[in-house]
Amino acid sequence: MCEPAEDLYAVLGASPSDSVQQLRHRYQQLALQYHPDRLVGESPSETKSSLQRFLQVDAAWRILSDPDSRRQYDLQRRAQELKQDWPEDSTVFLEDMSWDPGERLYTHCCRCGGAFLVSQEEVEEEQPEEGQRAGLLVCCDTCSLSIHVTWLSHSQPFRDSPD
Ligand SMILES: [Zn+2]
Repeated sequence: MCEPAEDLYAVLGASPSDSVQQLRHRYQQLALQYHPDRLVGESPSETKSSLQRFLQVDAAWRILSDPDSRRQYDLQRRAQELKQDWPEDSTVFLEDMSWDPGERLYTHCCRCGGAFLVSQEEVEEEQPEEGQRAGLLVCCDTCSLSIHVTWLSHSQPFRDSPD
């Protein structure tokens, strides 16, 4: 869920200010380029990626060709951009995250109600030099926010509960 959805205009190689005619032109070019009928004789992996591309292009065009759904998409897109403009990702100390011994995960709640999750393996893979801090950019599992999780080399990757 960390990957932001691909921008529909980018899928068409177009820009948000393009007219519907321009979008249609881009769509037709790409649809032709990736059309399944043209894939005869290509390797399975090429066929697969072209087909995926074709479906993406087709889905993008379907939304953008309709004035209502395009307007709605533009609004969503703007909201998404605003969210990404949020000031500085915050830094959270691993020590301050909650440790879930069952899942072996560090968790930190996001303001959207989702959670930032760091697995113990991720922490162990990122052991820094002595005295240095390690860090990891962690995306919320629900929204597009991310935080920077940091820890010191000598800190025990996970704490056993004292009781
Ligand atoms: Zn969130």
